[in-house]
Amino acid sequence: MVDSTDWLAGEFGHHHAESASIDERALVENPSHVGERCTILPFARVMGYVRLGNNCWVGHHSTMASGVIAGENVKVLDYSLITAGTILGNEVNCGPFAVFSNPKRVRANHAVVSRISPTLVRDLATISSHVVIANGVSLGRACFIEPHSIVDRSIPDYAVMSGNPITFKNWRCECGYPLSFESKTGATPLTETECGQCGERYRQVSEYSIQKRHTPNAPLNEWCHLA
Ligand SMILES: [Zn+2]
Repeated sequence: MVDSTDWLAGEFGHHHAESASIDERALVENPSHVGERCTILPFARVMGYVRLGNNCWVGHHSTMASGVIAGENVKVLDYSLITAGTILGNEVNCGPFAVFSNPKRVRANHAVVSRISPTLVRDLATISSHVVIANGVSLGRACFIEPHSIVDRSIPDYAVMSGNPITFKNWRCECGYPLSFESKTGATPLTETECGQCGERYRQVSEYSIQKRHTPNAPLNEWCHLA
């Protein structure tokens, strides 16, 4: 699967799909777009100019600030704070208690809007509980941020990261299974490897970059290039 950004093309119209389940105690402001089959739980707040794709889940006491865009099948679990300028791809998991922090150089008595940088979370990324993410970074496809981590820099695709500040731990397949580029004989490290669970193949491009092989019907390049 290659990252799809079709959902970015929509407008910020006032549209709450009839199939969406919005608890009467949730606060959903307008204009906002709530896609088909979304679930918004009690005391969540979805501010104006938010766009939620289909099948999104917004947990108790979570806040989606103005300007947030979420793709499809996104889960924002309880007590998470998604600040302005955040773009969540498809099937992203946030929280509970995940916080996208304010821009740098903020002062209480200054307007902050002009200082916000976009924070991009690519498809399938998992942000665990109590993770704090700096404004303006990008999180790679299917990356995994372990609980209580502080993300102060951008993260490559498929990386597992942990700690304060985050450090690299290992690689993980889209299916969630760890990937190893170590050779069993202890010889030169492998440049390609196969997931032991689902059989997907990955290759190492550099020390901090790996790519997944396209599925057979994918066009052009055999290896995914997600610039
Ligand atoms: Zn796999």
